[in-house]
Amino acid sequence: MISLHGLTKEYPGGVRAVDALDLEIADGEFFALLGPSGCGKTTLLRTIAGLETATAGRVTIGGTEVTGLPPGRRDVAMVFQDYALFPHMDVTTNIAYPLRIRKVPRAEREAKAAETASRLSLSELLARRPGQLSGGQQQRVALARAIACHPRAFLFDEPLSNLDARMRLEARTFLKRLQRELAVTTVFVTHDQGEALAMADRIAVMSAGRIMQVGTPAEVFQRPANTFVASFIGSTPMNLLPGVVRDGALHVAGAVLPRPDGVADGEEVVYGLRPEYMDLAEGEHADGFAGKVSVVENLGTAYLVTLDCGEHLVQAVVPEDAEPAPGAAACAVPRHRRALVYRDGELVTP
Ligand code: ATP
Repeated sequence: MISLHGLTKEYPGGVRAVDALDLEIADGEFFALLGPSGCGKTTLLRTIAGLETATAGRVTIGGTEVTGLPPGRRDVAMVFQDYALFPHMDVTTNIAYPLRIRKVPRAEREAKAAETASRLSLSELLARRPGQLSGGQQQRVALARAIACHPRAFLFDEPLSNLDARMRLEARTFLKRLQRELAVTTVFVTHDQGEALAMADRIAVMSAGRIMQVGTPAEVFQRPANTFVASFIGSTPMNLLPGVVRDGALHVAGAVLPRPDGVADGEEVVYGLRPEYMDLAEGEHADGFAGKVSVVENLGTAYLVTLDCGEHLVQAVVPEDAEPAPGAAACAVPRHRRALVYRDGELVTP
């Protein structure tokens, strides 16, 4: 549905915000662009929308090349972070605005605006102006405006970032349900991995203008393709510990673990394991990371425990009834089946 080939955007001054990027987004897909600040997410979205001109490469929407077309001729609707509503217009006029630009007759566009407003539970608010609405209501007006003109795709730039924490959760569920109902291809920019994991069908994780991995939420969470994605995804960061294979075993942070498949003697690797897959045992343990409890953080229903293992810190998430005392000797025992091994930054596939 949306294809990008070698797409590059360089700003004056030589900043390459999007770097020779290839991507295929399927029809009806809810697709998230995720990455740290400055990685080029917004630039990529704006280049798809036509608000930025590509320096090189092609953008194809629904089989039609749109690279040289202005935004108005790409048949996509963009919803901005700040909603970009017209402050002097009431809700109906805001929603109907794109239809007015397309010269839809007044009666027809007002009927369409009313119908869309009702779908988004805005019927009571039609006569109000944006300044008289809550953040969540303004967001729904912006969505209604995008929906009313039946675009081929929605492009959302951090649409939930102006809502408070509780509203965000509500809006997330609402948006996902709405996207399912409408089945319109949606590209969604966020720096919030929880949001991307919860909402998207697939996620592209970006860094420095490039895509580091494309996959379903389960894929990027369970099998990060490289150490960048491994360290970026996860509410508590993954343990990433340098190790070496010697005498048929993996030596890492003082522990001697089974040799991973696909790695030969003498090779240096990074051993990755989410703290959720580390169990904490008292005292020493044959195949674990022995250390001293240095920090215990309350996560609500569990504790994040940081063990000082000499040269390295190892983290484990333990159940709420197993809070260890700071300073105690303990051992983090990995669930081997969950471990990931990286060589030269890339996942070694078993
Ligand atoms: P954030 O999450 O902080 O919004 P982002 O991933 O959306 O970041 P972009 O806003 O696309 O990132 O910016 C990508 C890079 O391009 C950054 O290095 C930024 O400084 C640069 N950049 C963005 N807009 C311009 C511009 N108009 N002129 C020059 N450089 C720009």
